[in-house]
Amino acid sequence: MAYIEPAPLKDKENPFEAMMSRFHKASQILGLEEEIYNVLKNPTRQVIVSLPVTMDDGAIRVFEGYRVIHSTILGPSKGGIRFDPHVNLDEVKALAAWMTWKCAVVDIPYGGAKGGVTCNPREMSTGEIERLMRAYTQAMADVFGPDRDIPAPDMGTGPREMAWLMDQFSRIQGMTTHAVVTGKPLVMGGSLGRTEATGRGVMVSAMAAMEKLKINPYKATCAVQGFGNVGSWAANLLHERGLLVQAISDLSGAYYNEKGIDVAAATKYREVNNGSIEGFPEAQKITNEQLLTLPVDLLVPAATEDVITHSNAANIQAKLIVEGANGPTSSKADDIINEKGIVVVPDILANAGGVTVSYFEWVQNRLGYKWTADRVNRRSDRIMKDAFTNVYKTAQEYKVPMRIAAYMVAIDKVAKTYKYRGGY
Ligand code: GLU
Repeated sequence: MAYIEPAPLKDKENPFEAMMSRFHKASQILGLEEEIYNVLKNPTRQVIVSLPVTMDDGAIRVFEGYRVIHSTILGPSKGGIRFDPHVNLDEVKALAAWMTWKCAVVDIPYGGAKGGVTCNPREMSTGEIERLMRAYTQAMADVFGPDRDIPAPDMGTGPREMAWLMDQFSRIQGMTTHAVVTGKPLVMGGSLGRTEATGRGVMVSAMAAMEKLKINPYKATCAVQGFGNVGSWAANLLHERGLLVQAISDLSGAYYNEKGIDVAAATKYREVNNGSIEGFPEAQKITNEQLLTLPVDLLVPAATEDVITHSNAANIQAKLIVEGANGPTSSKADDIINEKGIVVVPDILANAGGVTVSYFEWVQNRLGYKWTADRVNRRSDRIMKDAFTNVYKTAQEYKVPMRIAAYMVAIDKVAKTYKYRGGY
């Protein structure tokens, strides 16, 4: 097939190229028609806005904000908003496409989108962040909508930011519009189980993979990179299922204890320590890089993109990698990991628990009804297990790694739907 090859990868991998290289591979194996390939490779819409915000000292600073709608073939687009100094258009484009594939893998009726603002929320006051979020919402008021594009939290944002977004959007509409955003605080239309949903999905995927690999969770060790919302919940829930969590980490470094980290204590420590685990006692301080190559059974990268690369992949000793973050493994590292026989449950499957419960939140908002935590968890666990089984079977059938299988499942679903809907 004569698709145009993705651009060659440089040393530091561009996330959009990383996404494209897997998309390309999976499309070739599926025998996807070139026209459809071209439809799916390009985002539907890319919006860039300038956001002037008055800072606390009275100065006006202009931030750049993005929203990329990758696809609306399966339904209204869905995806988080990232507040981070590294946010750029290529990253948001990749993250938007990953949302399309993620929603398709878990079979929820959404397309994919992502938003972001290049800023450092760690250096901003609450008031500055609120003004920035309201300015962003105002600028994106014609993009967002419960049937159009539904944002959610991502790195650097959480329920508080979603509350401001929902309020600002509702003011513009002149009516309360809960279903425009998910990941809201519980008191204003949030869903039970949403906060822990991504970490819980990581745990469910890890348990399913360990069953296939015949790893006994009560004898298994693991390392979790990143102790934000995803990593901390994943670590807590894996520990609850019997795994010995030997290392955790955040921006301050990694913390290792051969006999196991007290994850509950680390979570408490983070709460009273400004959101950081810096100086966590009863553990040896190592680097984030060392954490990735520890001799553990399970490695959960739950921090950011491009941490498992061609330069460290050969040193990874874990038997199983379950990707809590989006895009933690570079495409150049894929072959090295595969050759070593390491099983990878890819991001678009492993971290889809978050968007799954976002979907439940949206459904509840539209029903004007609240589900119990038990109902949310049972239904999301079922969706995650079914998606795992489907991807696993595809991997076996086509003799491909689970990552390529997950892309195949997703691309096939979106392509079939596109054919039914038709183009111009
Ligand atoms: N930001 C999360 C993700 O990358 C959640 C997106 C959502 O809930 O819409 O999956």
